[in-house]
Amino acid sequence: MKDCYNGYQELHLNGLELRELFKNSFYCTGRHHGTIIALPIPVYLETLNIKNEETYRIFYNENFCKIMKEKTDVDITFFGHATSRFSKFFSEEDLHIPKCPLCNSEMKLRNSQYGEFWGCSKYPDCRGKLQIGIIKKDY
Ligand SMILES: [Zn+2]
Repeated sequence: MKDCYNGYQELHLNGLELRELFKNSFYCTGRHHGTIIALPIPVYLETLNIKNEETYRIFYNENFCKIMKEKTDVDITFFGHATSRFSKFFSEEDLHIPKCPLCNSEMKLRNSQYGEFWGCSKYPDCRGKLQIGIIKKDY
């Protein structure tokens, strides 16, 4: 790992290491009143056709990540923001767990063939669901 401009690190990681780097991490996609809307980064990475055995060139700091194909430097994506104080990557412990819209019980992160979602902890008695973006309390 070598230090790059403006505090960015330049990393060369394969797809597996890239997923490991952002395991349990989320990034801010927007704000709504007192809450921050965030996306689990591993869920986002699933949509990008990142291959485990291929190597990628990454510019990365605590707020921002740019991913390029290593051999061609073709941009794959970037996420996060370089400057906003609300865009820090954060971990699962930071999350505000939403309440079920049907019965007000706590919700749990669940997985289905269609991806992750919030499901009611009283399932199967209650079928309450919320989509991810996850909601984080403002700070
Ligand atoms: Zn419920």
